[in-house]
Amino acid sequence: MISENLHNIRNRIKEACGKAGRDVSEVTLIAVSKTFSPEDIKKAVGEGIDNIGESYVQELTRKYETLKNEPIKWHFVGPLQRNKVKYIVDFVHLIHSVESLKVCQEIEKRASRTDREINILVEVNTTREPQKHGIDPDEVTDVFNEIAVFDNVQVRGLMTMAPFVDDPNLARPSFKLLRDLRDRLLDDGIPEFQVQHLSMGMSNDFEVAIEEGSTMVRIGSSIFGERPY
Ligand SMILES: *Cc1c(COP(=O)(O)O)cnc(C)c1O
Repeated sequence: MISENLHNIRNRIKEACGKAGRDVSEVTLIAVSKTFSPEDIKKAVGEGIDNIGESYVQELTRKYETLKNEPIKWHFVGPLQRNKVKYIVDFVHLIHSVESLKVCQEIEKRASRTDREINILVEVNTTREPQKHGIDPDEVTDVFNEIAVFDNVQVRGLMTMAPFVDDPNLARPSFKLLRDLRDRLLDDGIPEFQVQHLSMGMSNDFEVAIEEGSTMVRIGSSIFGERPY
């Protein structure tokens, strides 16, 4: 089933890119495997997936230990507390969900010990809902300027989660806002490599996200199946 689902998702990504006049190589597929087993992840890896996303630190470290020898780039996409940074900093490929300078400082401190560069994205609350994660859109420029002073923390772009809605078109304003924020940062003189990535789009809205400029889609249930909650 994972094989079939991946085939289907890849076709839909290709179609969305075609529709948006974009090259399919511009969009990285991240398979989000939270709640699913290492065996399921191995199946995805067998189908050519090398970017895996997880949302919980404990679950990520457990799966990393089990799958250490697989050619996997591990993405952290869930809420990250400062005191959990130390558990993932030695192996994580990209942290999508940085939403405070405090967490950046902690990443810097931990990463400098092994002189590892840690790539991060800044999560933005594009819906401005108080219960949602991410920084306020109005604070993006300030946060970028403050992050620029770090040596080991390398900011590579922005991430957002759209509102959970049935009609994916209702997610579009969220994606548009993230792209506009990226363009504003470029206008403000932020170097291009620091805003290279827009991590946006999930199972129910990734095609709209690709139309709006997503470079990383984070897809879980459409690959692995419904999550058992
Ligand atoms: C779970 C999760 C996803 C994947 O969601 P699906 O709807 O299953 O595709 C993407 N991003 C984040 C941050 C998640 O927590």
